[in-house]
Amino acid sequence: MIKLEPAAMTKAIARAKAVRPRVRVISADARTYSVTGSKGDAYTVRFAVSNGLKLAECDCRAGKAGMMCFHVVAAAQVNVMTQSMRKQGASAPVAPLAPRIVRRIERGHNGAKIVAVYCDGWAI
Ligand SMILES: [Zn+2]
Repeated sequence: MIKLEPAAMTKAIARAKAVRPRVRVISADARTYSVTGSKGDAYTVRFAVSNGLKLAECDCRAGKAGMMCFHVVAAAQVNVMTQSMRKQGASAPVAPLAPRIVRRIERGHNGAKIVAVYCDGWAI
C-alpha cells in the first residue's frame, strides 16, 4: 500500500497534469477506480483508510513497488469528489434509485475535447 502524503505526491501530481489520465469509477463503495494512462493502458487503483492513515494501491509497476504514481493522484481527485457526492446524495430527498446522468467535457489523449457521459459514475 502507498501512503497518501502530500510531500510524496508533488511529482505524481505534475505527471498527472501532463498526462491527464482518464479515471472511471469501478466501485464507489469499495473506492476502486480504473485509471487510463498515457498509452491507453488501464490500471486499477484502490483506496483504504487504516488507523487514520490514507492508503492507496495501484497495480502498475511503480504502485506495486509501493511508490506514489500518477494513477493514484488522478484517482484520488475523483475519489474526493465521488465520496463527497455520496455524502450529499445520502442527505438529499431525491429518490436514491434514480440514475445520475453526468455530462462533462474531457480531454482525450491527443488533447481533443470530448464529451463524456456518465450514468451512475459509469462512462456510457
Ligand atoms: Zn499506478
